[in-house]
Amino acid sequence: MLYDFHTHSFLSDGVLSPVELIRRAQVAGYAVVAVTDHAGPGNLELVLDQLQRDCRVVNEHWPIIALPGVELTHVPAAAIGPLARRARSSGARIVVVHGETTAEPVEPGTNRAAVDCDDVDVLAHPGLLDPEDAARAAAGGCFLEISGRKSHAFANGHVVRTALASGARLLLNSDGHDPADLLTETFATNVLRGAALPESEIQTVLQTNPQALLARASR
Ligand SMILES: [Zn+2]
Ligand SMILES: [Zn+2]
Repeated sequence: MLYDFHTHSFLSDGVLSPVELIRRAQVAGYAVVAVTDHAGPGNLELVLDQLQRDCRVVNEHWPIIALPGVELTHVPAAAIGPLARRARSSGARIVVVHGETTAEPVEPGTNRAAVDCDDVDVLAHPGLLDPEDAARAAAGGCFLEISGRKSHAFANGHVVRTALASGARLLLNSDGHDPADLLTETFATNVLRGAALPESEIQTVLQTNPQALLARASR
C-alpha cells in the first residue's frame, strides 16, 4: 500500500488538475493521497474550497482516499500557527509546512513553528533539522518528512538520523508536481535505504506511521 501526504496540482505549481492527480495516484497503486497545494494567507480558502469539492466526488466513486490539504509555503514563521488553524477550520485534512530545505531560503524558525503547532501534521523537507526541533516533534506528534523530491532530498540522511535519535515519527512523501514523481514501492524503499534508514524501520515509515496519520486525519 502506498501512502502520500504531500503532492501538488495546478492549483499551485503542479501540472495536473487535482482530480487527474488523484486518478493517476489510484492507478499507481496508492491507498491514500493528500493534495497539498502551496498556500499562504491569500489563497488558503480558495485552494481548500476547490480541493474539498474534488476530493468529495472522488471519494464517492473511486477506491482511493483523497484528502484535501495545503502546504504552507514561505510564509512568515510567526504566522504559521494562525494560518494552520485557519487551514484546519477551512477544511484541510492535512496541513503540511514547507520546512527549512537546504535548497531554498526558507525563514529560519519555520521548523520550530511547525513542530510546535498542534494543527500542523507534517513538517516537509526540514533540511538541517535541529535535534531540539526533532524532540519537540516527537513530543507534539508532528510527522517529519523524508522527501522524494530531487532538490529537497539532499538532507534526507540527516533528517533520518536526527529523527530516529529523538523518537519523532518519519514519513516518506513524493512532493510530486508531475505524474512521473508519484511513488512506487521500489522507489520509496530505495529512497529510504539511500537515506540510511535501518531495514527494521522501513515498514514503520511506509505503513505504520502513514496509517497513524490517516487515523488522525479521519477524526
Ligand atoms: Zn515544500
Ligand atoms: Zn511541496
